[in-house]
Amino acid sequence: MGKKECVENCPYVKKCGACHIGEKSYADELAEKRKRVVDNIGKYCNRVNPVAGMYYPYHYRNKVHAVFGKRREEVIAGIYAEGTHNIIPVNDCLIEDAQASAIIQTVTELIKAFKLWVYNEDTRRGLMRHILVRKGASTKQIMVVLVTAQPEFPHKNQFVAKLRARHPEITTIVQNINGKQTTMVLGDKSKTLYGQGYIEDVLLGLHFRISPGSFYQVNSAQTQALYKKVIQAAELTGTETVIDAYCGIGTIGMCMHAKAGRVIGIELNEQAVKDAKANARRNNLEQMHFIAADATEYMTYMSQNGEHADVIVMDPPRSGSTEAFVRAAAALRPRSVIYVSCNPETLGRDLGWFAKEGYIARAAWPIDMFGFTDHIETCVLLSQKKK
Ligand code: SAH
Repeated sequence: MGKKECVENCPYVKKCGACHIGEKSYADELAEKRKRVVDNIGKYCNRVNPVAGMYYPYHYRNKVHAVFGKRREEVIAGIYAEGTHNIIPVNDCLIEDAQASAIIQTVTELIKAFKLWVYNEDTRRGLMRHILVRKGASTKQIMVVLVTAQPEFPHKNQFVAKLRARHPEITTIVQNINGKQTTMVLGDKSKTLYGQGYIEDVLLGLHFRISPGSFYQVNSAQTQALYKKVIQAAELTGTETVIDAYCGIGTIGMCMHAKAGRVIGIELNEQAVKDAKANARRNNLEQMHFIAADATEYMTYMSQNGEHADVIVMDPPRSGSTEAFVRAAAALRPRSVIYVSCNPETLGRDLGWFAKEGYIARAAWPIDMFGFTDHIETCVLLSQKKK
């Protein structure tokens, strides 16, 4: 797709700031992303492969969020313009799932029809704050999360009935209550208004339950490409003890289970661990264990008990890992560490810590999960330096 065509396709160019669609070709973007990875990790890794790009880099986001606001008495849903509290009304975004965009549009109309109050950040009054739509790319299940400032939701049942009538594709609707002054979208309490309160998706033949607040990769097609790379890099033979650190709902470890002896997933978020355990049962994975703990603390506990791991996979948040984590990982003497990173800057820093512990980055495979944004995912294989 040429430059001009992209610009004409997106009406929000230069307004919303969430992506840079139309500024360069996708091929140029991938080349720039590879350069960014090389700039950040080249010192530790001299084999950075070309970026694996998307086949179709549009409408790939399976999770879509919008904030509600008012403009000249009209209810609008959109995103905050970069660095401000001005809401840019967005519908039909080119990177978000199209069904999710249509649902958000309908909810906006229903808020108006039911005369519900839209929350105002400044006065802290009003009800409707955010909407989050999550879709299982493979199952097509759709969850709508309506975030309200208070638990009382007038005409709730009629609202849900109307929404379901307009969008029979919705499989569950959840009300989440967030009364706090915060940039976090979700509050602590959720009520299921329709359906099971979660959706399922399938990755590499395994079923995963996704709750409103659980982390789940936003680009399902590229996630499978990433996990295949992790499995390949691990070179498992069926006997290994594998640790999946920062495991979320357990997706990476569970996809490795078939080729490993046993897999231990470690995750701090308790709801995610609940989902992970349910996922392991759902898929009959008997040698899959999940621990709700800080990954550094649990690995330290393991090595103090004389335990060993053959392969450690780690997938930390954007802020990266810590030096203490790297030391705790090295203390388990794994033959390989596979680092999945969504931030080349913190990845570079962390590879430096691994080098100090005698682990060398052998190869890196950048994978584009977030086309038209500045984000790039990278999978790095590290192994022990030969003595
Ligand atoms: N591997 C997963 C999720 C990665 S996101 C996937 O592919 O879907 C990073 C995860 O790390 C989040 O779920 C977050 O809750 C978790 N996390 C953050 N700090 C942690 C820590 N100190 N110990 C364990 N898990 C942590």
